[in-house]
Amino acid sequence: MTGDTRSRAVGIDLGGTNIKGGLVDRDGHVAVKKSIPTEAAGGAGHVIDRIAGVVADLLDEGGTAPDDVAGVCVGSPGPLDADRGIIFEAPNLGWRDVPLADELTSRLDFPVWLENDANAAAFGEAWVGAGKGRECVILLTLGTGIGGGIVIGGRLWRGVNGTGAELGHMTIDYDGPICGCGSRGCIEAFAAAPALVRRMRLAIDDGADSSLAGAFRAGEEVDAKRIYEAAVAGDATARREMEQTGRFLGIAVASYVNIFNPNCVVLHGGMVDAGDMLLGPLVDEMAGRCFESSRRGLQVLRSALRGEAGMVGAAGCAFAAAEGSA
Ligand SMILES: [Zn+2]
Repeated sequence: MTGDTRSRAVGIDLGGTNIKGGLVDRDGHVAVKKSIPTEAAGGAGHVIDRIAGVVADLLDEGGTAPDDVAGVCVGSPGPLDADRGIIFEAPNLGWRDVPLADELTSRLDFPVWLENDANAAAFGEAWVGAGKGRECVILLTLGTGIGGGIVIGGRLWRGVNGTGAELGHMTIDYDGPICGCGSRGCIEAFAAAPALVRRMRLAIDDGADSSLAGAFRAGEEVDAKRIYEAAVAGDATARREMEQTGRFLGIAVASYVNIFNPNCVVLHGGMVDAGDMLLGPLVDEMAGRCFESSRRGLQVLRSALRGEAGMVGAAGCAFAAAEGSA
């Protein structure tokens, strides 16, 4: 510990649609937050200018002097190199090999760090969210893909090359569907939102009765949220596929529990809004597949920070990096 006393840090959650930024204090409270469209079509330089603008606005609105800011951390989709601050590939942004940290540092007066977005969310939940005060927190982000983060003793486990914690790419079926990572049968290929939509479409094609049959046949865009809403409204096919998604997740979570014996597994992302329809089957499936001793006291929790997890977590990562304990 360096005894850094600067009271605030800026966390940025960089997404393909929005840039969310927060000025955060050492207790994890968000003093000021701001969200603007990313405008990714404008190119990397334009987006980085916009991030710098968000940082300036946050300090201005928060009445915070630059010398009271420990630094800025950007949580970004990857793959990326957090040590060198380079985003190798961000399909949502159309970026390849963007030296984000250097580019942003040249526009700001603070140190800038880069972090994988799921890692940032995991850090946030372990710091001040659902996993606060716990020794070992595992986080899964459920969305278009499945991201993962592992926090042990208040520190992220990034792996030797910084590419660890890819919990979405645990194989649950050696002969399963091709995954976006190039492998086959990853949990992401079974339980991310597009997989749920795909299974729902297949069930309807096979003749299953569903309130969404007309929408699928008309070629409408049906997303996971719509399937969940149909399930809540009594659509038995939609409910069955939601529950199946939970069971698939339970298979993967059982392995995380056997490997890490964590205090808690935190689920984050839009699909988590499905609540017990997803969590119930997940916990049942997990319980049958992992050691009783490893799941004793284990909690499977929904994100407490929700849409702010990435932003708050990134700020926490900035404090940790400034202390030299990232
Ligand atoms: Zn994969």
